[in-house]
Amino acid sequence: MRTNEFRSLFGRVTDADVMHTVAAATTRRRGTRSRVDWASWINGAVLAGLTLSGLVSPYGVANWYKALAVGFVGIASAVLGSAALITFFSERQEQREQGPRRKPAPILREVRDTTVSAWIAACLLAWPLARLWSGNAIGLVWTLEEAGGGPLIFVQTFAAVLVLDAWLYWKHRLLHTRLLFPFHRQHHSFRDPSSLAGFAVGPVEGLLTFWPIVILALPEAIHYAPLYFSLSVGFVLLNLYLHCGVAVRAFEAVLPRFLLNTSVYHNRHHANAEVNYAEAFTIWDHLCRTREEDLRRAKPADAESPATPYGSR
Ligand SMILES: [Zn+2]
Ligand SMILES: [Zn+2]
Repeated sequence: MRTNEFRSLFGRVTDADVMHTVAAATTRRRGTRSRVDWASWINGAVLAGLTLSGLVSPYGVANWYKALAVGFVGIASAVLGSAALITFFSERQEQREQGPRRKPAPILREVRDTTVSAWIAACLLAWPLARLWSGNAIGLVWTLEEAGGGPLIFVQTFAAVLVLDAWLYWKHRLLHTRLLFPFHRQHHSFRDPSSLAGFAVGPVEGLLTFWPIVILALPEAIHYAPLYFSLSVGFVLLNLYLHCGVAVRAFEAVLPRFLLNTSVYHNRHHANAEVNYAEAFTIWDHLCRTREEDLRRAKPADAESPATPYGSR
């Protein structure tokens, strides 16, 4: 492969590319189908592969599929229930980040895509759950002594959060390359999302995001359960807030002090796909100068993008 072709495959997609790809994917225009198709095939293969992986479960096939069903109902109802509640209130706010909606949010499509990603997460959760139900130890422990004591838990959790945050940022950056954007276009088809689209991602992106769940199946990988569940719930709630489309003044004041992402910050990523790649913390956006203000400072003339460059959907 020539250097130029390589560069172009790993070049960053522009916001105009995103608009074009999304329009092509939703209207199925001619000439863009092959690219959409190969990504759709791989997404389908990942979905089928994860669903069928239970057939080789050493913890009992029926046990694994029961764990999948229980996990899916639990994850889907918790995420969609919380998202629906936040959407109910946020859609009633007049001051939306991208201005008043011209059309209602495509809630059914958002729910459909979030349901698929809840299925992906449940396929991953089925492994530790089935292992636990078959009487084997897993990596979750409920006491400080079993977890090695407070200081050790603190250091390990701090390091794990930093590593996972780096993974989330760089995964997102890679998904914005020309080669991999077809796996991320689904999420950007929600230009002015509601919280119901917070986890609306395709199977490949879902797998790249939720794979750490499987680590729980390893008894050697000790996780202190109260902290693990608190951080997981915190991450889910933060992500739902990032997609609600409105600013809650208290959250916008407090979260950036801890270098955490906010609704205003992530909404700009949906309005201009070339900036603000952070998913949890904004550390890597600061380090790589990929915040909207960094881009504006670097290219003052053309980086300026209005609050609603393409209007609400
Ligand atoms: Zn998003
Ligand atoms: Zn993105």
